[in-house]
Amino acid sequence: MTPHPGPPAPQAAAPPVDRAAVDRALAAVRAVIAARGAERRHHVAAAVITADGRHFLGISLESALGWASICAEPVAIGRALLDAPAVAITACLAVNRAGEIVPPCSRCRETLADFAPSARVALPEAGGYRLVPLTDLMPHAYKAALRFGAGRQE
Ligand SMILES: [Zn+2]
Repeated sequence: MTPHPGPPAPQAAAPPVDRAAVDRALAAVRAVIAARGAERRHHVAAAVITADGRHFLGISLESALGWASICAEPVAIGRALLDAPAVAITACLAVNRAGEIVPPCSRCRETLADFAPSARVALPEAGGYRLVPLTDLMPHAYKAALRFGAGRQE
């Protein structure tokens, strides 16, 4: 069995964010939730933006078993990791069915800390949004190494 490699190492500095790319992603997630939100199985759409200016969309998956539901952000992260595994995720945003920016939930903040530790996250702001470093939301994120202690393998 291949050992789990763990999350990528944190990057030394946050890569720059292309605001125009974030705006394009915002338009795309709003279009997705406008088209799919009426199904009532998708309440949030999200996008992650990568350092090369692309964005990858995700949509929440509401399960009949509430605990089995999946947020939109990890779906977007997974798509980015499949299609652009070597490109850093620089930003993440999500909108509700009204098209309003929503911050990531606590579980998604943990997932972002594992897979996009240098990303900025969109928070709602009057007239739009602002991008804040994930580390501002998660100054003491849980790290896999904490689970096993120093010097131990997974
Ligand atoms: Zn979430």
